[in-house]
Amino acid sequence: MKAKFLSAWVAMLFASCVHAGGPETVWEYEGEKGSRAWGKLDSAFSTCSVGKRQSPINIEEREAERGGLKPIPFSYKAGPGEILNNGHTIQVNLANSGSARFEGLEYRLVQFHFHTPSEEKINGMASHMVAHLVHRAGDTKLGVVAILIKLGKENVALKPVFDNLPASEGKTAPLASLNPADLLPADPTYFAYIGSLTTPPCTEDVKWHVMKTPIEISYAQLAAFKKLYKMNARHTQATNGRRVQVLTPDAAASGSAAPAASGAAAPSAPATKPSRH
Ligand SMILES: [Zn+2]
Repeated sequence: MKAKFLSAWVAMLFASCVHAGGPETVWEYEGEKGSRAWGKLDSAFSTCSVGKRQSPINIEEREAERGGLKPIPFSYKAGPGEILNNGHTIQVNLANSGSARFEGLEYRLVQFHFHTPSEEKINGMASHMVAHLVHRAGDTKLGVVAILIKLGKENVALKPVFDNLPASEGKTAPLASLNPADLLPADPTYFAYIGSLTTPPCTEDVKWHVMKTPIEISYAQLAAFKKLYKMNARHTQATNGRRVQVLTPDAAASGSAAPAASGAAAPSAPATKPSRH
């Protein structure tokens, strides 16, 4: 199928295999080819079922290890992009939008895309949506920043994307300019753990950084996405005793690399204890 080939080709071109499951094996989120069956659909997808460090996960905030993290140094900049409907999500490919440093190593931002509801949960709760900002270092190292998204005000930074969602698989739309820094929440608090791609082939050793505080989109923006993808989130995976770290407010305050997000008027509230349990 031409569109499928194009989709895979574009994904390869942008050097991200996050959503390139291979042109020959169809996978979906629900039903017979849904996320619980991925590992059986293709031998190349076996990690989806046998992997021990899979994503997404539920993050229990009070169990996260404190004290070892610093704010992420983001070096994002405005640049052009391409909005792609890849058959599984809307993905914005970026050619020159800067980078972020994870554990001292520079990772180039190559694309971001969306899932609804959010794949990751915090204290058992999902958000309406999540944006995954996919970064690469060299040929194989992947680092993702997950920005949770909840219903609220219209997101002006994402308006050029949500106003131009390509309606069918393989279709693209140009994006004149977007600065990924405008997507970051003002609160630099994040959770870090080692996981995997959340789509086949579920490759592991992906560095995950889940921003704790959600950004907002309007109901109309969420509805525009859901018209194309009603549900495109993998179910949460076993943590298998993995270490999950969290940036503490004091470390955030002493850090010098807080993101230059818009609307950062008030300092972020300290982490609150979950009221459940
Ligand atoms: Zn994703």
